[in-house]
Order: sequence, then C-alpha cells, then structure tokens
Amino acid sequence: MALPGREPTIAHVASIAVECADCGRNRWWRPDQLRRFGVNGQTPLSALAGRIVCSACRAEGLPGAAVSIQAAFLDDRARHHAEALKLPGDAVPRRRA
Ligand SMILES: [Zn+2]
Repeated sequence: MALPGREPTIAHVASIAVECADCGRNRWWRPDQLRRFGVNGQTPLSALAGRIVCSACRAEGLPGAAVSIQAAFLDDRARHHAEALKLPGDAVPRRRA
C-alpha cells in the first residue's frame, strides 16, 4: 500500500477499473492505456475521476462523467496471485454477485 502521507499514483497500480453509472459499462485499463487521458505514472489516483470519461456515453452525446474508478494495486495483484496458486484443483469458481 501507499506510504502514509503519500498519495498513491498510477505508478502504484496494476490496472484501473472504470464503471459507468449511466450505461453500466465496466472495463479495465492498464496504466499505459491511460495515456490518452493525459495520465502518466505521476498522476495521483485522486486526479483520475476528473480525467476519465465513458467513451461509450461520449459517443452518444452524454457527458460520460458518472464513472466510478477502482484501482488494483500492484501489491494486491501479487497477493491475489499467491492466493490463486494455493487453490485446490477442484475448486468451484465463486459466483459473481
Ligand atoms: Zn457510459
């Protein structure tokens, strides 16, 4: 996780989930795919909300700004990967909510 007092930036995340409240679209972006939004490794996560818009809504003439953004941190991904390796072979996939 980020150090106290230091704001997490794009450099700390593995990927960004963007969900649009207007059209319900949900997709994951890799940090390098966010350059088109003027986002780079130094961009604080708190600055993303104002920059990323839903391209599908934009295409329909809507603001596309009702997006919620979720970050998957690099540390989390490493932990999830470690957990996945411990799963038994006959594990049943969890149902999505
Ligand atoms: Zn949308």
